[in-house]
Amino acid sequence: MDKKSKGERKDAAAEREPGFATLSVHAGAQPDPTTGARATPIYQTTSFVFDDVEHAASLFGLQTFGNIYSRIGNPTCNVLEERVAALEGGTAGLAVASGHAAQVIVFHVLMRPGEEFIAANRLYGGSINQFNHAFKSFDWQVKWADSDDVSSFERALGPKTKAIFIESIANPGGIVTDIEAVARVAQKANLPLIVDNTLATPYLCKPFDHGADIVVHSATKFLGGHGNSIGGVIVDGGKFPFAGDQRYPMVSAGRPEYHGIVMAETFGDFGFAMACRMLSLRDLGPALSPFNAFLILTGIETLPLRMQKHCDNALAVAKFLKGHEQVAWVSYAGLPSDRYQKLARKYCPKGAGAVLTFGLKGGFDAGVELISNVKLFSHLANIGDTRSLILHPASTTHRQLTDEQKKSAGAAPEVVRLSVGIEDVEDLIADLDQSLSA
Ligand code: PLP
Repeated sequence: MDKKSKGERKDAAAEREPGFATLSVHAGAQPDPTTGARATPIYQTTSFVFDDVEHAASLFGLQTFGNIYSRIGNPTCNVLEERVAALEGGTAGLAVASGHAAQVIVFHVLMRPGEEFIAANRLYGGSINQFNHAFKSFDWQVKWADSDDVSSFERALGPKTKAIFIESIANPGGIVTDIEAVARVAQKANLPLIVDNTLATPYLCKPFDHGADIVVHSATKFLGGHGNSIGGVIVDGGKFPFAGDQRYPMVSAGRPEYHGIVMAETFGDFGFAMACRMLSLRDLGPALSPFNAFLILTGIETLPLRMQKHCDNALAVAKFLKGHEQVAWVSYAGLPSDRYQKLARKYCPKGAGAVLTFGLKGGFDAGVELISNVKLFSHLANIGDTRSLILHPASTTHRQLTDEQKKSAGAAPEVVRLSVGIEDVEDLIADLDQSLSA
């Protein structure tokens, strides 16, 4: 029997750092001070009443924290921001309308027209499009590096480079990036490393522990986890030395929008997050609805339970597919034979995520046949749902590309992508088995 006194027990409990599951349920949330509501209320309001003229002036002048207008901040969204920041181990978060909006906001803070950033070539296809095409309108230039070859990031560096962008586990799954190796390149060049942690979530991988400076999420996927809300989150790691670095005037120079306030000086280790909120989100406008924030928060409460089940199911499905006579190859870093297994063990020791790809010996037609015959898997373009999802990129998302383009985007005619859900894995395997033999 433990001989601690009552006082010692009390002190030990007060000093304890809450664990991941506890943070998933509680971080950022308190009983509502007015009503006592225990679940986070949905503050479905556009605006908040000021106490008086002085209060309004100090809010607008950034001298007081508080609520003004829901495009800049909303109490329900604030809980989501604090929760994801706590789970990632960052200093502050910002919730926005989508994962893509998170990327626009981050780059809007870091880049000026004519400048460059380096991105890994193995990314979600939508991000490749965003960087190649949409960002051109802002004159932000992307230089592509090979995710598997760290020296290619070094070779892509130039005097106009402002940031490096990678995914921890890259969509369409199966690929794990060597975050520490890329972080060393970023650090040597004094550049912030941005990691999209959507597929891993902080349950599997903590990019800040491996040298990342900024984390972005499509909360649409595993964070929300139920396929019901689009959302995004930015987390500031708080360590990049923005203060005094004139390459990043949104964070380090006096802002005319706020009578000369310097975000990095006034807000210290969350100056980048404040620049994202008060300069970019305020002026570009992609705010998250409080209702979506509520749904994503509710999803996060079960994140550790779901992610573990997702990973366990994905590994079992990958093993089944690997042994199937109609399957030519399986790409899933959780498989012992996989080329990314070593990186997966280092960066995602609890599991390699739930998204995987495989190739069918029967090519394009076999892919079409398979998705036409599945009963339990849903044929759609999302990932990270409790439900299992299936996609044949060559006949859907990548249909407009040439065969050569499809191949280099990882969407060759025979490729099928799965996002494995949390159903009984025997049912998932039975569904794939019957549709493969149909
Ligand atoms: N990042 C990754 C890795 C994704 O998979 C996606 C969407 O699939 C996004 C970003 C974009 O997120 P959203 O659809 O929420 O804009």
